[in-house]
Amino acid sequence: MNFELNDIQKQIQQTFREFVKRKVLSQAKAIDENREFPMQLFREVGDLGFFGMRYPESAGGSQMDIVSYSLAVIELSRGSLSLAAACTMQSLMATYFLYRLGDEEVKSYFSQALEGKKIGGICMTEPNAGSDLFGIQSKAEVLEDGFILNGQKTWVTSAPVADFLTVFAKTDQTEGLSIFFVPTHLEGVNIGKSIEKLGVRGSLTSEVYFDQVRLPSNYILGHLGDGTKYLLEILAEIRIMTAALSIGVATAAFEDALQYANERKQFGQVIYKFQAVKMKFAEMKVQLDTARHYTLFAASLSDQNKSRNQESMIAKLYASECANDICDEACRILASYGYAEEYSLQRYLRDARFTLIGGGTSEILKLNIAKELIK
Ligand SMILES: Cc1cc2nc3c(=O)[nH]c(=O)nc-3n(C[C@H](O)[C@H](O)[C@H](O)COP(=O)(O)OP(=O)(O)OC[C@H]3O[C@@H](n4cnc5c(N)ncnc54)[C@H](O)[C@@H]3O)c2cc1C
Repeated sequence: MNFELNDIQKQIQQTFREFVKRKVLSQAKAIDENREFPMQLFREVGDLGFFGMRYPESAGGSQMDIVSYSLAVIELSRGSLSLAAACTMQSLMATYFLYRLGDEEVKSYFSQALEGKKIGGICMTEPNAGSDLFGIQSKAEVLEDGFILNGQKTWVTSAPVADFLTVFAKTDQTEGLSIFFVPTHLEGVNIGKSIEKLGVRGSLTSEVYFDQVRLPSNYILGHLGDGTKYLLEILAEIRIMTAALSIGVATAAFEDALQYANERKQFGQVIYKFQAVKMKFAEMKVQLDTARHYTLFAASLSDQNKSRNQESMIAKLYASECANDICDEACRILASYGYAEEYSLQRYLRDARFTLIGGGTSEILKLNIAKELIK
């Protein structure tokens, strides 16, 4: 079932589907168990052009539409949400501000990142600032010829393997947030140890400390205090992308459960024939298709440059909640085998929890959806 995809979109979907079948599925379990960044696969995803899909050709990308990008994300996360999380970080949040606001030196990192030769991350969250970004305490002192950055960040995806970071901080001159480009080799940048997580274990996450980090003037991205304005430019896309991650993992859970229900026999027949089990599949199918259609609809609004803030929040909220429901139901269908490490279902269930947090928690999205209603 498709959202009236055009030929190019179908081709993209097929390319990533084939790649996942050939390369990712056999490694997904090990990526999770070893808690290691899937460097080889990450580079191969780069070779497929994924990191540059949403950037213009003039910047080294392939200028694909957001629907195509979302389809690629769905396929990658069908194979491994760890891999997909690392790759989407690289293709969107880690690189956007370099592309949009960087000078020539900064853009050279961007170009290498599109090829997967340099790895990036984004540092917004702090121990005391999660949903409330304005609670950020990291601070840059403005000098005549640059900045001195101090602060602590946490939950930074890809930080343990990152070559550069995009850092949100306040300054001594403005109330608003500013964005800084910070190569990780600079003195005073310290990457903490990886945070052990319930899911997406191959997408490494860690704390980062900035201790008197000296930045030249060209490492500010955009104007002082305008960080939130720039973030808003991609917030809808971040949410659509997170919805796509949710759909991918939910699809994997649904398909595994469907296959199992048609093989497992109890009381003399395959369990799919029991009405109570069939009802679960009908409910999951409705959720999955609705989430998929709505997300691609939200993506298509982006492609038409139409306002999509509300739609992107609805897509992310609905798809991530559905993904968690579907992974839970699929696990129940496998019963004890859904609880066994040998099967992938437990991994999907653990991984899917991430989609409830990244791109805004469900509570924050509900508040903002309601806020839009009375604008
Ligand atoms: C795997 C993973 C990867 C991540 N990667 C990155 C990354 O690369 N870079 C980065 O900067 N961050 C990253 N994050 C952090 C993520 O963005 C934050 O976890 C998220 O913003 C929520 O912040 P918090 O966890 O501090 O929760 P809090 O904001 O403390 O929220 C705690 C609870 O309170 C609720 N709550 C908070 N405020 C309100 C309110 N006003 N009304 C109602 N309920 C409210 C929330 O919904 C939640 O249930 C990552 C997180 C995870 C789990």
